[in-house]
Amino acid sequence: MIVAKRKPLQEIKDMLKPYQKILVLGCGSCVAVCMAGGEKEAGLLTTELQMAFELDKDKKQIDTLTILRQCDREYIDEVKEKLNQYDAILSIACGVGVQFTAEVLGGAKVLLPGLNTTFLGATIEPGTWMERCLACGDCILDETGGICPITMCSKSLMNGPCGGHEKGKCEVDRNRDCGWVLIYERLKKLGKLELLKTIKLPKNYGAVKRPDKIIHEAYQPVTVKEVKDSQK
Ligand code: SF4
Ligand code: SF4
Repeated sequence: MIVAKRKPLQEIKDMLKPYQKILVLGCGSCVAVCMAGGEKEAGLLTTELQMAFELDKDKKQIDTLTILRQCDREYIDEVKEKLNQYDAILSIACGVGVQFTAEVLGGAKVLLPGLNTTFLGATIEPGTWMERCLACGDCILDETGGICPITMCSKSLMNGPCGGHEKGKCEVDRNRDCGWVLIYERLKKLGKLELLKTIKLPKNYGAVKRPDKIIHEAYQPVTVKEVKDSQK
């Protein structure tokens, strides 16, 4: 899931200062799971902001609303009319949600980010999330025992560890496991240490064009010729 954390209250307040009628827009998916931008957090942030502006004697209307996903047009469309009633929307979705909501609203509405989108990760234990994937677009987990060197090694090394690991810990931060020691141990457990002998070429980050786009085959545009051919 996408993991994010809330921006400091002062930063959010500064962004909202020029606006009078504000909507705090929560997102009920990834950011709700990581307790940063769901319905509960949207409610809490709204109350905090109402109190903070009240203390400043800055009269504002601050409301809250949470939709299931801000990265899906259908959920934004359902509340479009309401969203358009505000001077500014403070979105506490990930960066995708903030951008996409603005896009669906035609780019004519001020959308402000309430969160810092941090990484793609997993829940390690309740309340703790950890990065696992940098969405490189060319997954090599089959070669590394299911552990991503790009994410789990501080230097994103592709062919084994640097010389700095000590007792399984990374030289960049001794509190972190060395990603390549983890990969070695995993491959050993799987009986696949021979995979380490294959030299991996430097990652071609240019191979993925940003912003990337995927169209499911069922949704690919069909040409007239293809329709005719299928009717033969
Ligand atoms: S290689 Fe790592 S960064 Fe790339 S897709 Fe796989 S898990 Fe993600
Ligand atoms: S010590 Fe391990 S994880 Fe840290 S940078 Fe070197 S190889 Fe990567």
